[in-house]
Amino acid sequence: MDIEPPQPGQAREIIPGLRWMRFPLPFPPHDVNVWLLEDGEGWLAIDAGMGNEETRTNWRLALAGEAFGNRPLTGLLVTHFHPDHAGLMGWLSAEHRLAPMMTRIEWLQARSLWFDTGAEMIDHQVEFARIAGAPAEYGAFMRARGPLYQRSVAPLPRAYRAIADGDTVVIGGRAWRVMTGQGHAPDMACLFCAEARVLIAADQILPRITPYIGLHAGEPMADPLGGFLATLDRFRVLPEDTLVLPSHGVPFTPLHRRLDALAAHHADRLAVLEEACRTPATAHALLPTLFRRPLDHRSLGFGLGETLAHLRRLEAMGRVERLPDADGVIAWGRI
Ligand SMILES: [Zn+2]
Repeated sequence: MDIEPPQPGQAREIIPGLRWMRFPLPFPPHDVNVWLLEDGEGWLAIDAGMGNEETRTNWRLALAGEAFGNRPLTGLLVTHFHPDHAGLMGWLSAEHRLAPMMTRIEWLQARSLWFDTGAEMIDHQVEFARIAGAPAEYGAFMRARGPLYQRSVAPLPRAYRAIADGDTVVIGGRAWRVMTGQGHAPDMACLFCAEARVLIAADQILPRITPYIGLHAGEPMADPLGGFLATLDRFRVLPEDTLVLPSHGVPFTPLHRRLDALAAHHADRLAVLEEACRTPATAHALLPTLFRRPLDHRSLGFGLGETLAHLRRLEAMGRVERLPDADGVIAWGRI
């Protein structure tokens, strides 16, 4: 689809009754999309953007300007708990007297993380990185940095409205089916409208980058990459000419080619990693097999999470095993 991205505070029409807004982010991928769906007297927004002053300013501009066209914000649906999507959920909900829609797992994840700011939380994350082979100075960096979530997420609402996979949400007379996705977040909401052939894909299917798939300290035996790949398969039932509206990047078609490319990318990464495990190594020592450039401390957590997600997938497939040393540091070896 050949359409210029909107400037911050402005909106562009994608199809009648559906508008695209884009907000800058202070980190890659550098911006996040918000979709406005006409709904009766007002607009329902899909996602709230990052919890910072710049995003608040852009929301105010949009609400007062042509983007909203003198009509109010009357609904909010938040796709997942990450700060660039849920950051201003509480602010928008309070200002516009809304109860946001969210899947129950994403809601509970946001609520629990927001309050999890104690030193024990960091201790647990430092230990997770240590047994993955990270150097001691990375632990010191994490302690100095402290918990991150609350910093970029405004105080959350106390009530919400749960949506779940398979639900139909009627917005502006159009039926949107909720399809949840796993891997990037635990139960991310995507929305498909058969009538318009539009998929609001959140971070599940992005056009240029692969969504971050990471293993987290809170659920070290999860298999997020397995969940992500299974979700790609579930989205294959959608029509090939579906217009995909991703949370980062520009609207695109065709859908199936992108599903194939994402699956192929991870199949390739898994093969490379399995080969590297012929010589048992920690997740930290395996970073160069997945990342061309060395990672600084700010990127190391993502790098370890992504590497561990691939190792967990290989472990679940029976291809590698974990070989802990006397200090509990885990090397991964090919079976
Ligand atoms: Zn995102």
